[in-house]
Amino acid sequence: MAQAAEPEMYTRELESDIQYLPGVGPKRAALLRSELGVARIGDLIRVYPFRYIDRSSVQRIADMPLDAAYVQIQARVVRTLLMGAGGQIIYARDENGALRGDGSVPGYASARPTEADEKAVGSIKFNQVKRLCVIVDDGSGTLEMVFFKGIRYAFDRLQPGQTFLFFGKPSVFNGHVNMVHPEIDNPILPGSGTGAVMTGVYNSTDKLRNGGITGKVMNKLMLSALNLTLPEVKETLPDYILKEKGLVSLPYALQHIHFPTDAYALQKAQYRLKFEELFLLQLSLLKQKYIRSRHERGIPMPLVGKDFNDCYHALPYELTGAQKRVIKEIRADLMSGHQMNRLLQGDVGSGKTMVAVLTALIAVANGCQACIMAPTEVLAQQHFANISKYLRPTSVQVALLTGSTRTAERRAIHQGLEDGSLGIIVGTHALIEDTVVFRRLGLAIVDEQHRFGVDQRARLWAKNADGIPPHVLVMTATPIPRTLAMTLYGDLSISVIDEMPPGRKPVETMLITERRRVALNRFMRDQIALGRQVFVVYPLIFESEKLDYKNLEQGYERMVHDFPFPPYKLAIVHGQQSAEEKKFNMDAFAAGRAQILVSTTVIEVGVDVPNASVMVIESAERFGLSQLHQLRGRVGRGSDKSYCILVKGDKVSKESQKRLDLLCSTEDGFVLAEEDMKMRGPGDLEGTQQSGLPISLNIASLAKDGRILSDAREYADHVLSRDPMLESPENQLLAAELRKEKYQKEDYSKIS
Ligand code: ADP
Ligand code: MG
Repeated sequence: MAQAAEPEMYTRELESDIQYLPGVGPKRAALLRSELGVARIGDLIRVYPFRYIDRSSVQRIADMPLDAAYVQIQARVVRTLLMGAGGQIIYARDENGALRGDGSVPGYASARPTEADEKAVGSIKFNQVKRLCVIVDDGSGTLEMVFFKGIRYAFDRLQPGQTFLFFGKPSVFNGHVNMVHPEIDNPILPGSGTGAVMTGVYNSTDKLRNGGITGKVMNKLMLSALNLTLPEVKETLPDYILKEKGLVSLPYALQHIHFPTDAYALQKAQYRLKFEELFLLQLSLLKQKYIRSRHERGIPMPLVGKDFNDCYHALPYELTGAQKRVIKEIRADLMSGHQMNRLLQGDVGSGKTMVAVLTALIAVANGCQACIMAPTEVLAQQHFANISKYLRPTSVQVALLTGSTRTAERRAIHQGLEDGSLGIIVGTHALIEDTVVFRRLGLAIVDEQHRFGVDQRARLWAKNADGIPPHVLVMTATPIPRTLAMTLYGDLSISVIDEMPPGRKPVETMLITERRRVALNRFMRDQIALGRQVFVVYPLIFESEKLDYKNLEQGYERMVHDFPFPPYKLAIVHGQQSAEEKKFNMDAFAAGRAQILVSTTVIEVGVDVPNASVMVIESAERFGLSQLHQLRGRVGRGSDKSYCILVKGDKVSKESQKRLDLLCSTEDGFVLAEEDMKMRGPGDLEGTQQSGLPISLNIASLAKDGRILSDAREYADHVLSRDPMLESPENQLLAAELRKEKYQKEDYSKIS
């Protein structure tokens, strides 16, 4: 590294071991390290409150909304009661001391303490206590607090006569309003404190509390850590960014994130820290993308070609605006001389196949070959059938290569790929085998990328003969919310088909229970009598395959019983069948020879049977939201009115019920994905589990801070467009930040 002044990031206090912070010491230091990952004083000030006690928002018990998520009340403890397993009172006291536990309840208030009872405090057998009830009064009314855990601590702390601040969720039990395990804080006293109106509340654990690091102690530690280190804290963002984005300085932000003087200061502090977090993340992702586009050459594909035009003009329909836009985006990438790395998102039925075919034809026009890889054999077959149809007006040769391709045919295909006579190859993982050699692979299209491992992809990309990597187009029907896609695939280009082909009918979605089975069977018969076909899907969860096949088989037997031959014909498809069996059954259904297809989720992606108008999903509560959405997308493709019927079990959790209700309420995959993310948190989103989040976010939330994220990304792009390698003096702070360990991870989101 040159002499360029490396910004001096840390000096003594920020770097010192947390044990040297006054009030910590070796024991607490060990706790802070294990529970919060805090090793140095500088780490502590980066542990942010997850909420604030706001002096201005204390509610009166009398006005307390019972459905509130949380309320904060400030009230005096009137009485505390320790209860045994049978609900009997073991001990009770009020401000005057202990009350006689002589069974004369409910007249507690009138009972007088005795000396014997006072002594008894020390002899209470806490292991016999099952519950602590605390009656509090704030002048407007009284409320009961209940503790099942931490009884000893709460009993000692909540001395009758004293006032505390309680924070919790009101609940109704046996017709009484109470609050279970509220958080306890010291009361807000008028005119007290540091000038901060709000006090931070930090995530805590039992270990921390038992080790003496209570909320109050945490506030104290934070205050002394800030006093010690704030003068040393160096700005991480260049001046010009603070000015252009109107951000407060880092020291200001740290001060006010912990001890805000008012809501406005807090907001400024939060915005600064969230922006910084998301901006640096996007900057590191986009920088990798810039580096790659500099270094990685791509095969230039300037030509569109006759085959493209022949195919295009023979289409029985007009492309949608979204399809046209996406093809333009892809065209621009292919002409650029850099390698394309594009994620194509489009809801089920949005017409991604057509885009794939036209893209492949561009590759062929430029003297290259294209491969289209599908995750399952059934899908590869279906793709092959569709693509062959689209290619009929062209002179391009296409073949299908899967695990069950026969040897002779396989040999011919290998030959065709090697000599270049085969322009387009459709297949499964069989395409990656070492024996498969291309003359010139210029484009790899991967359908449903999350089913392909990184290794498998790498092997495919290595197949290009002349050292230039093929262009990559990954297609997915999993609608990843834009905010998440930007974070996960920050260095990929993203295209979205956000418009459905015209004529798609809305699918009527219904949620029923087992009790409506007879009505459901009748409905299915009616639909079949109208000439329609029906999918019936059973859940399959990998951990318990056997059990699930039992479900499926029992379900199938019941279906055979309810829909006897003749006139009904059923086909069954599941993962334990051979490819041939699967194909035989799928074909029977696709050709209309069977009216009902009973299956596991193998039909989840891609399968196209326009005449099928009913999708019945058994044990619907066991599917994820986006899986349900994908399944529903299998119907509504023809001209008939379509239905999706969700059959739920008797015991459905609140969460699952919410999911099912949501599915009934909208057909927009992106709305569903956003809602799903809000409900479950981004880490859980289907299709992203394996990738996980590239970096753990400390303060920003992908579900809530989407606007800041897009702003941060746009701005990161702007900064890099002027200085792609962050070489200018004004960007040295940023360059130094990105050298930090957390940004040095392998290029996790790179898909090529
Ligand atoms: P996806 O792969 O995105 O789920 P497909 O490519 O299988 O969707 O297309 C779904 C159906 O819509 C197919 O039957 C296809 O022929 C049809 N389709 C595609 N594009 C259009 C369009 N622009 N107008 C009308 N129908 C279209
Ligand atoms: Mg498809």
